[in-house]
Amino acid sequence: MKILVTGGAGFIGSNFVNYIVRKYPEYQIINLDALTYAGNLENLKESEEKSNYRFVKGDITDRELVDSLFEEGLDIVVNFAAESHVDRSITNPGIFISTNIQGTQVLLDAARTHAIKKYVQVSTDEVYGSLGAEGYFTEDTPLAPNSPYSASKAGADLLVQAYHETYGLPVNITRCSNNYGPFHFPEKLIPLMIINALNDKPLPVYGDGLNIRDWLHVEDHCRAIDLVLHKGRNGEVYNVGGHNEKANIEVVKEILKQLEKPVSLIKYVEDRLGHDRRYAIDPTKLQTELGWEPKYNFETGLNDTINWYLENPSWWENIISGDYQQYYEQQYGKA
Ligand code: NAD
Repeated sequence: MKILVTGGAGFIGSNFVNYIVRKYPEYQIINLDALTYAGNLENLKESEEKSNYRFVKGDITDRELVDSLFEEGLDIVVNFAAESHVDRSITNPGIFISTNIQGTQVLLDAARTHAIKKYVQVSTDEVYGSLGAEGYFTEDTPLAPNSPYSASKAGADLLVQAYHETYGLPVNITRCSNNYGPFHFPEKLIPLMIINALNDKPLPVYGDGLNIRDWLHVEDHCRAIDLVLHKGRNGEVYNVGGHNEKANIEVVKEILKQLEKPVSLIKYVEDRLGHDRRYAIDPTKLQTELGWEPKYNFETGLNDTINWYLENPSWWENIISGDYQQYYEQQYGKA
């Protein structure tokens, strides 16, 4: 089996590459990644030592390059490559349309002309929009994205479904809730708060801190994608989530508690524009059809993640000493 993983140097993609390279030594894995600010080859040291893994630096919107990889005879494509940060999509939406929509179209065109066995689009629960206090997103919830990021992901999902309906492309879409775990880029809530707390810097919390996200450990997400690419029914969407709804402020307080730091570090900042209030996933279809169950509960998963950041300071120090610092100051001001 030959698998092309795109965006495999990012947070979830690199966890997935390491997982799949380790689990299936008989498969060949090609990782295509443009190495944007979010891509980091440091995440892939484990895979780089294995003979069933190869890295290709390149952009998914580069049709010629993508075609040349498909000509090697791919069986499966898993598309993680994306601009993924909502805040960045508010300040600069254009790149989100190019990578997330046009890039997906390039991959779909190549998949269609090279008769692959499966195309998996890694999507997000954010395409469903925002929930009130009750209810869950199911696969039948209408798409109602609110940010340029989620709109671009919804656009890509619709293209994937259209290529299935129109050309019979064997596709699946996974829509996962918020992930956390090792190699998570420090602009996202959990690593940002861990690193600021470790440095005794203020922890910037948007609005009233009561926005709710449904957290899943990245390894549980990787296991779900593994099941979907091997057993998913063609054309189907699978929601991925572990019923771990938490208000942002609860997550922040739990991090402070585990690190034995004072709550006085919390600093409420002006809310994100169009900030969705609540996300919550109903994963019943994935559980009943494909037998998926999450392994981690939030408290132990968070504890493992905090320990990972404590044990790997050079990984995040290298990131926050570079361009990221400029972005941080623009977003939250100087600490
Ligand atoms: P990330 O930003 O950490 O990684 C994205 C990767 O894609 C980076 O390595 C980057 O270099 C690469 N990339 C960006 N543009 C590219 C291009 N044009 N060509 C090739 N590579 C390119 O993102 P992530 O958090 O790991 O998310 C991965 C995927 O999972 C995304 O599609 C995202 O929408 C989806 N998702 C993320 C979450 C989450 O909580 N992080 C939840 C659900 C779904």
